Amino acid sequence: MAREARGSVAAGSLKHAAASRAPVIFLGPAGAGKGTQAARLADRLGVPRISTGDMLRDALAAGNAVGRAAAPFLERGDLVPDEILIGMIRERIADPDCAKGYVLDGFPRTLPQAEALEQMLGAVASSCVVLNLEVPRDELLRRLSGRGRDDDRGQAVEHRLQDYEDQTRPLVDFYERRGRLHRVNGFRPMDAVSADLQRIVEARG
Ligand code: ADP
Repeated sequence: MAREARGSVAAGSLKHAAASRAPVIFLGPAGAGKGTQAARLADRLGVPRISTGDMLRDALAAGNAVGRAAAPFLERGDLVPDEILIGMIRERIADPDCAKGYVLDGFPRTLPQAEALEQMLGAVASSCVVLNLEVPRDELLRRLSGRGRDDDRGQAVEHRLQDYEDQTRPLVDFYERRGRLHRVNGFRPMDAVSADLQRIVEARG
């Protein structure tokens, strides 16, 4: 076999190995259906779903150091500081159950978080699939007002959607520039959305 050909086979299998460890990242505002879709996709892929919202609520309930640090921000409905989230994710993705990939739901949510994740992933970063669930604002408001969680009331909802626009929307460009972004219309029946997401992830090989 010619040297170049051997080289490209090796590069090909390395690429495949990286892809199988790379996370699937969900973007999209509160109410877009991220949680449900992330759980379905993780099940389907047989990998863990890592929800930062769930992790923070668990930490709060446990009263541990992360919970105590995050509490005032969660109470106000503010984003929790980047250092806390970055540390939490760095530890979590080092767990053995993440070795064959994982689905990130709620992280990254700010540019510094996205940049930290690039560093953590190294060469694997370029194999990430980023899914942006798009839902019109009126529909988000309608869904969130029906959900009834403490942070889903009136002004709190507006506040979270505004945080999304200010802090998280820039990530759409960040990932688009890197050629990893897939936009998915989330204003459709759940099964149709799931089917599209699955197709996109399977196409990455
Ligand atoms: P939702 O997507 O409905 O806003 P989540 O359950 O994902 O809710 O998160 C709940 C809260 O946890 C957020 O409102 C925010 O305060 C905090 N949080 C979750 N993920 C992050 C993150 N990556 N960066 C900062 N804060 C976060």
